[in-house]
Amino acid sequence: MLKKKIQDLMTEPGCATNQAKSASERKKGCGKQLVPGAAAGGCAFDGAKIALQPITDVVHLVHGPIACEGNSWDTRNTGTTGPELYRRGFTTDLSNMDIINGGEKKLYKAIRRVIDKHHPPAVFVYQTCVSALIGDDIVAVCRAATERMGTPVIPVEAPGFVGSKNLGNRLAGEALIDYVIGTREPTDAGPTDINILGEYNVAGEMDLVRDLLARLGIRLRTAITGDARYNDVAAAHTARANMVVCSQALVTLARKMKERWGIPFFEGSFYGISDTSEALRAIAGMLVERGADAALLTRTETLIAEEEAKTWAAMEPYKARLAGKRVLLYTGGVKSWSVIHALQEMGMEVVGTSVRKSTEADKEKALDRLGGDEDKLVDAIAPKDMYQMFKDGRADIMLSGGRSQFVALKAKTPWLDINQERHHQYAGYDGMLELVRQIDLALSNPIWSQIRKPAPWEIEE
Ligand code: SF4
Repeated sequence: MLKKKIQDLMTEPGCATNQAKSASERKKGCGKQLVPGAAAGGCAFDGAKIALQPITDVVHLVHGPIACEGNSWDTRNTGTTGPELYRRGFTTDLSNMDIINGGEKKLYKAIRRVIDKHHPPAVFVYQTCVSALIGDDIVAVCRAATERMGTPVIPVEAPGFVGSKNLGNRLAGEALIDYVIGTREPTDAGPTDINILGEYNVAGEMDLVRDLLARLGIRLRTAITGDARYNDVAAAHTARANMVVCSQALVTLARKMKERWGIPFFEGSFYGISDTSEALRAIAGMLVERGADAALLTRTETLIAEEEAKTWAAMEPYKARLAGKRVLLYTGGVKSWSVIHALQEMGMEVVGTSVRKSTEADKEKALDRLGGDEDKLVDAIAPKDMYQMFKDGRADIMLSGGRSQFVALKAKTPWLDINQERHHQYAGYDGMLELVRQIDLALSNPIWSQIRKPAPWEIEE
């Protein structure tokens, strides 16, 4: 069954990359051969955990050796406005004897123990390589535990060896559609309820989005899964529209929700000023089409006009300081294009944007914003080439994830984290202002002029 599920996910019809392929290419699926010597990145289990761990009030129980939990625990800075249970690490810690005798009983006991101790609304049980290879049937154990203990116990079948982190994200979506979404009928479903899929509340930035939506009278039923509560995810099928913010990860879930419950979806982003406005317009339009009061459209335009004017005015003082600075964007997905416009408005030049992890649609948008200059769409840059780029002064700052920071720092070049480990909120209008402020802080940090000076022993007497 898992094999069939993976095959289906690889040929997802709702995926823009797949749509752009020929029929025969599509059939081959989207799995990529690893380049020998390259690090494989996160495993499928890691991806599933990343996608589900932001559900804050449940127990996330890893069925495997303790190292799997250690590998994935708290790797993202996802925030909560309430429960803290999701931050605890739970594992069955399989040992040699469990591998010989099987780990199902141990898993069952662990589920009983966490339910007795923490009384969560649900337990998510994660399969790992070891428990899958020894043949532990986590689906059967979870079913038995659910029946006997009366608490939903959700199997997440994404052992590490089945594929990449991205595949794990998608398998997490499958667990939600198979076992969670649609299992609770809320009494308060309304005509302006929406879900946001693929949003993980990094640095707690959902607060900024929730506030904008609340001002329009739109209720976020749940994000899947940032700062989510189990019961809200279980009732996600009652929302009137879905917004997908990370298309590669949960587009299958969005498509299935559309097929099963008729919930329309669109892909959008809350990174960047114009993209935030477009997202709000699209949400309002969809809700009105599905029966919400048409006055929502006017309210949305008023809010957009107010917020855009306020944000551009607040960004004005930074213009003089940032104009002419050259930025290398080394990220992926929506961020490869969504912040370009705001940076350009500040007078900054984007010298390149990485599209390694982007869909065809992402690439097109990036190209459009870069004036059609294909040379600025970069794939992976080898560290030595990146280092040389900074040494030659071809970029003044790099915006990227933590992994590539050391190349910039070694070249004595400012760097700003805009990926999942960041500690600042960059979503929505206020988030964009914060991004510009952080770029300014990074560029004007006095450390750069100090470390670029020759060391005392390098100065000739
Ligand atoms: S690859 Fe397998 S053993 Fe390694 S962390 Fe992932 S699930 Fe655990």
